[in-house]
Amino acid sequence: MGSEGCLLVMVIDIHPQLAEADQHAHTYLDACISFANIHLASNVRNTLAVIAANHQETRFLYPSTTEEQDKRQKDGRLELLGLVDDSIERELRSMVVDKHHGEQTESLISGAIGRGLLYIKRQETEDILSKRVHARILVVKISSDTGGQYLNYINNYLSAQKIGTAIDVCLVGSDCGLLQQGADITGGCYHCIHEITELLQTLIMMYQADVATRKKLNTPAPEAVDYRAACFCHRSLVDMGNVCSNCLSVYCKAVPLCTTCNVIFQTDRPLMKIGKKKK
Ligand SMILES: [Zn+2]
Ligand SMILES: [Zn+2]
Repeated sequence: MGSEGCLLVMVIDIHPQLAEADQHAHTYLDACISFANIHLASNVRNTLAVIAANHQETRFLYPSTTEEQDKRQKDGRLELLGLVDDSIERELRSMVVDKHHGEQTESLISGAIGRGLLYIKRQETEDILSKRVHARILVVKISSDTGGQYLNYINNYLSAQKIGTAIDVCLVGSDCGLLQQGADITGGCYHCIHEITELLQTLIMMYQADVATRKKLNTPAPEAVDYRAACFCHRSLVDMGNVCSNCLSVYCKAVPLCTTCNVIFQTDRPLMKIGKKKK
């Protein structure tokens, strides 16, 4: 698999919370860009896509959808690496500057993962020999999550599982049960670190090897996965809930009507006793 090269789709969280990390915002972005460079430099057939997500939009940082600049070599590095750096920097700058001062909610990570999956699928269909593209997605996330995009995440995970794409997750700060589920469902690797300064080292040590090679490495054992579902009414993770018998939507309390499929529940009907057989 190694010689065929791998398409790495990086999903980078650039939520405004990043600004609270003081100078470490630079360390965070540098680590992401350095990792992208390492991926491209380690195999000539490796390819890359970088998608950023904040609370308002998702954007392709590389390959850029806007104008292309000249590919001349400037500092003796590979032209491609210079091109990647320039493209990421330009797009990031315009993304951060284009502020609409909206409400600060959570980052649109699930949307970015969805775009990544579509990108992978398009690479496969555009290939003349229609070969299977060896691809994986790496999510680097720093902001906290509320479970508001529960369904979008689950749909992404099931699509990724279907096309055999692993979703790796590297979190900075707090754990995220939803992303942990995604890594587990798709066969990716999940790891949470507490300091931004550890990010580059962690990315290189744990996420540089492709999924097949990783099995031969002595990586930390996966933790127990939090498989709680988010209720459809408040988007909060629940231990126990009510499930619609028609469409399997989850509710944290009894509701008279399923908001997903509009089925009416007859809650006033006396509960039937189970186990009593009529003769
Ligand atoms: Zn609820
Ligand atoms: Zn329903």
